[in-house]
Amino acid sequence: MKMQNKEEILFSAAENEFRESLRAFLEGLDAKKIEREIYERDFYPRELYGKLGDAGFLAPVLPVEYGGMGKLVYEAILAEELGAACVPLAWIHSTSSYAYATIARYGNEEQKGKYLPALKSGAKIGAIAITEPEAGSDVMRIKTSAERKGDEYLICGEKRNITNGSRADVLLVWAITNPEVDPGSGMSVFIVESDTKGFEVERDFKLLGGFPGTVNSYLRFDAVRIHGKNMMLGGENEGARVMFDELSIERVLYAAMLVGEARPILELAVEYSMDREQFGTAISRFEGISFKIADMVTKLEAAKLMVYHTVRLIDAGFEAEQESAMAKLLASEAFYEVAHNTVQILGGRGLTDEYPAEWAFRMARLSMIPAGTNEIMRFIVQREVYKGYKGKKGG
Ligand SMILES: Cc1cc2nc3c(=O)[nH]c(=O)nc-3n(C[C@H](O)[C@H](O)[C@H](O)COP(=O)(O)OP(=O)(O)OC[C@H]3O[C@@H](n4cnc5c(N)ncnc54)[C@H](O)[C@@H]3O)c2cc1C
Repeated sequence: MKMQNKEEILFSAAENEFRESLRAFLEGLDAKKIEREIYERDFYPRELYGKLGDAGFLAPVLPVEYGGMGKLVYEAILAEELGAACVPLAWIHSTSSYAYATIARYGNEEQKGKYLPALKSGAKIGAIAITEPEAGSDVMRIKTSAERKGDEYLICGEKRNITNGSRADVLLVWAITNPEVDPGSGMSVFIVESDTKGFEVERDFKLLGGFPGTVNSYLRFDAVRIHGKNMMLGGENEGARVMFDELSIERVLYAAMLVGEARPILELAVEYSMDREQFGTAISRFEGISFKIADMVTKLEAAKLMVYHTVRLIDAGFEAEQESAMAKLLASEAFYEVAHNTVQILGGRGLTDEYPAEWAFRMARLSMIPAGTNEIMRFIVQREVYKGYKGKKGG
């Protein structure tokens, strides 16, 4: 009997094939070398993203009639492999994928026909605009308004910390459509094209002393006129429902990207510790080093399993809010531990730009805030746990 390898147990033949061909394609593009160039010269790899689309790798989550494979698991594989191959490329893809997955789930046929092909081909980039100056973790406190004027809506407000915000062509923007009720029942989500009059990029921020190849934008909506219900996703005042669903998908895909980002850094730590000699032997022979490796591998593997467990739940029709929060929590903390320990294992060199460890360390620190902070992830997990005990003592 032929012995299966571990990947054959976890993933189907089609999933493994997708991963292998994607890896080969990214290697062919020399994505790792381009990542290094971005790190040195700070440019936004827009063209590279287009190539990924041209080759047909983008948007595997889309239904078959839109050229996809209809499953989130492929999207997680894509996010993971991009994270491993070229971090800025993975970040362009991140919000684009959250946007096309949400349009696919909530869009009407006209919206899907108009936006999905361009997002899938990489001709257009998507962004998610929820966060505002006064509404971060408390997403229900957004103030951006969309006032109805006949067949149109007039969007006014500000959004902050928006990944790809200044480069996106298509933005999903959450706004209050009924200020008279609780925001949970009075918000809607709109598709806004960036060339619409009144859409303004106030500025792009630098993150943690520079996150080359990405943009994090402050956006202003100054009476942006949106044509009626055509541009609304999921129906009027249904924005909160769409948001929570979007966030579950965002968190698990974000976690998949982090698992990918951590992988080459872990490999660097292993290889470096085998090569580097001190006290007459490879430092990997010291348990102070090799036990760090054991912890890093264990935590990263756990995060990866949580990611794929979660996407399979979502593919099976579950909401999986708790699981996606756990995946994001585990993946960001595993990545942080991997990056932190890799810097330590590389010693003084780990802090220089000779190796990607110091950049990874900054990326890993950053990863605990987007898509909901890790405190909020813990909040969601405990809330869901206690829900199951409702009515019992202390529940
Ligand atoms: C790199 C990056 C990319 C981002 N991309 C996007 C994007 O594309 N689209 C978008 O809409 N947003 C984006 N964000 C915004 C991100 O989602 C928010 O920064 C995040 O949700 C936290 O909000 P805040 O920054 O306002 O912090 P706050 O909500 O003000 O939180 C401040 C601190 O208080 C803690 N805190 C708040 N409430 C609680 C609580 N109930 N219990 C315990 N602790 C609590 C938080 O955990 C945090 O430590 C991005 C952020 C970053 C850094």
